[in-house]
Amino acid sequence: MATTERKQVLRFADGGWTEAIGGHLALDLVNTVSWRPDPHRTVDRLSDAAALARWADFVGLHHAAVTERTVAEVRRLRERVHRVVQPLATGAEPAAADVAACRRLLLDAVGRAQVVSLMPVELTATSVYDELALAAWALLEREDARRLRQCRADDCGWLFLDRTKNASRVWCSSADCGNRDRARRHYARRTAEQQ
Ligand SMILES: [Zn+2]
Repeated sequence: MATTERKQVLRFADGGWTEAIGGHLALDLVNTVSWRPDPHRTVDRLSDAAALARWADFVGLHHAAVTERTVAEVRRLRERVHRVVQPLATGAEPAAADVAACRRLLLDAVGRAQVVSLMPVELTATSVYDELALAAWALLEREDARRLRQCRADDCGWLFLDRTKNASRVWCSSADCGNRDRARRHYARRTAEQQ
């Protein structure tokens, strides 16, 4: 039997789950909203302080307790980052106002950060919020926008950095959206054959 890589999964009471598939902390943050393109299914996995603390632990952020205020701030940061990164992942240009709003949040966090090394500059944060904002800053500063992708499944909406050698990754997770797509196409083909 072939062994498959076992991915770390964070499961929720409603049967849903999230995976750290973004290839970058800032994208994993954006992906804490599932099924964004489908308003009937959209679910926010950072629903309260307990949920944020659990997710932060899942992605390896270990800081003092988060509050409901932290949740509101993190969610606002997440949406501002999404409005900049999602267009880039789909070959579009983010709106200037969205870029300005996002930049303001990120620069505030950079302003609070401590410099741990130079060339390249490494910054460190003292809160979950700042850590996530610095991650978003690092994403925009260091990563190649041409590698940003949105999962090919119409209803998924998750973003990731395609780090494959030949830039061939199209699914957030081939075990999830990739499989759903295969099942759908298989079903469509069988239905067509039976007609
Ligand atoms: Zn997907």
